[in-house]
Amino acid sequence: NLDVTWAKAWIRTSAAVMSEHRVELINLDRAIGDGDHGENMDRGFQAVLSKLEDLPSEANPGDVFKLVATTLISTVGGAAGPLYGTAFLKAAVAVTGAADLDGSALVAFLTAARDGIVLRGKAESGDKTMVDAWTPAVDAAEAARAEGADDLAILVAAAVAAESGAQATEPWVARKGRASYLGERAIGHRDPGAQSSALLLRAAADTAS
Ligand code: ADP
Ligand code: MG
Ligand code: MG
Repeated sequence: NLDVTWAKAWIRTSAAVMSEHRVELINLDRAIGDGDHGENMDRGFQAVLSKLEDLPSEANPGDVFKLVATTLISTVGGAAGPLYGTAFLKAAVAVTGAADLDGSALVAFLTAARDGIVLRGKAESGDKTMVDAWTPAVDAAEAARAEGADDLAILVAAAVAAESGAQATEPWVARKGRASYLGERAIGHRDPGAQSSALLLRAAADTAS
């Protein structure tokens, strides 16, 4: 079940995954940005990791996500820091006080994260940003929940959709962020933020199993 133990395991795994994929994310961002996305995400999640143990024992998932939000905002920098920070902050608010996330809380959590990114960055679907991983993930999660899927199946559906969503950005021109300055030269490259989003959602599913 999706309780505080899961929330902490997800974030610990995300920190490991961001270290593991640091160079991959740097290379994606080097192609269509300034090459720092892997560095930014790795630094941010390592900072979260060092603060995770300070949470009180009665913390709930929302408290974990609030800590993630404030830490990412203060340590990641660039575009991704405020975007992920707002995502985790809105998601934390959506599940305030809940000790366990059931299917509808999980969908509300993912939806709030995506809405936070859109609120902050004003990107639409197809702009070649992290929104193109999150929106398919939210839609797939909602569809899975409507079919009666359990939490794990909802998270797996979200992760799979985020991975396809990230891949789908490859042939596109970017309309937001640094990659938008490149025009057609962005074609053929996957958006780094969409890729890190897919990695985060994969980690969420992996830690729920
Ligand atoms: P920076 O571009 O400042 O160096 P990062 O490299 O850490 O920041 O993050 C870049 C990622 O941020 C992009 O790949 C894209 O997914 C995301 N991004 C940039 N601008 C926006 C936006 N307005 N809305 C949503 N996502 C965005
Ligand atoms: Mg960058
Ligand atoms: Mg930068």
